Amino acid sequence: MTKELIAYIRNLYQEPNAFIPLHEPRFLGNEKKYVLDAIESTYVSSVGAYVDQFEEMMCDVTGAEHAIAIVNGTNALHLALVLAGVESNDEVITQPLTFVATANAISYINAIPHFVDVDMDTMGLSPTILESYLEEIAEVKNGVCYNKKTGRRIKACVPMHTFGLPMRIDLLVEVCDKYKIFLVEDAAESIGSYYKEKHIGRYGKLGVFSFNGNKTITCGGGGAIITDDENIAKRAKHLSTQAKIPHKWDFVHDEIGYNYRMPNLNAALACAQLEKLEGFVKNKRETAEKYMAFLNQYKDEVSFKKEIDGAKSNYWLCALEFLEEKQKDEFLELTNQKGIMTRPVWRLMNHLPQFSSFPKSDLSNSEYLEKRVVNITSSVRVK
Ligand SMILES: *Cc1c(COP(=O)(O)O)cnc(C)c1O
Repeated sequence: MTKELIAYIRNLYQEPNAFIPLHEPRFLGNEKKYVLDAIESTYVSSVGAYVDQFEEMMCDVTGAEHAIAIVNGTNALHLALVLAGVESNDEVITQPLTFVATANAISYINAIPHFVDVDMDTMGLSPTILESYLEEIAEVKNGVCYNKKTGRRIKACVPMHTFGLPMRIDLLVEVCDKYKIFLVEDAAESIGSYYKEKHIGRYGKLGVFSFNGNKTITCGGGGAIITDDENIAKRAKHLSTQAKIPHKWDFVHDEIGYNYRMPNLNAALACAQLEKLEGFVKNKRETAEKYMAFLNQYKDEVSFKKEIDGAKSNYWLCALEFLEEKQKDEFLELTNQKGIMTRPVWRLMNHLPQFSSFPKSDLSNSEYLEKRVVNITSSVRVK
């Protein structure tokens, strides 16, 4: 299969010989124009028309009431957890199968990541596993959820939509509501993804996006928080601008804040990229369809990770699941040797030394996927 897939990818991307990266950005629209305009305006830093425009565009794209431009996705997650009221020594439920930023952001507050297993198909936090696990370990007292074993508060839950594939987020909302747990969606990989017609990131009280260089759309580095809650939105803006009270000349700060605002220069790039989002997602979904059709003949070796019913994935990174770990290793070896960049799914967070001692549920599904899932070429096709 591997040799055939290599030939297929080279043909698909019209790249007979050169190295093919996993995911590269495409600047095909107003990027240069807007960035030059931002430079000429002299507003290159965190105040500027493009920042405002970007926030409006994010509301349009996602349907959220409010969007706050943030310097990157990791800091957006950190701030979202602060806004959720997470404090030092609280537990925050998340999945072990994620990019390290999710667990890092929890740790910045000295909160404790608590790893709960994912569903096999979506690779996102499993609502059914979470519910039965909470039944066993959690109790709600006076509207606050506690871990009966550790005595710590379980304040928040941060599910992650893996590679842009929407998880069963509506069911997760129900579980979190039942247990009074604040839901923050790590939608970093999911701009342009929907579940049951609603944009990903809008199910949680807060949703977080990333516009890093390898994401579906990029502004070099960038992030955003979306919410329908006006008070949280105001507080997000306040805390991300060093908690400065708006004033024409005076500098007064009323609490400890962060320098987390997205610079106008990046926002200019972000606006131009957002204009292209619909076309990019269409293109990526077609790529996914092509892979699915091609790989159908190798069903006994490998399967393509598809969106579930009701989901519309942006297919940020296309993913394959091998039947055997050994096949995955051989696949990574040969593709990378032949100049087609592929990579395994992240190591599970609980396998990293800095997170290995934190509490966790049974993680059989995550363990299974860790050994078998890889990402293949997923850039927007331009030729
Ligand atoms: C990319 C990513 C982030 C972090 O975003 P940055 O903009 O790179 O800081 C967070 N979570 C997940 C799941 C990501 O893929």
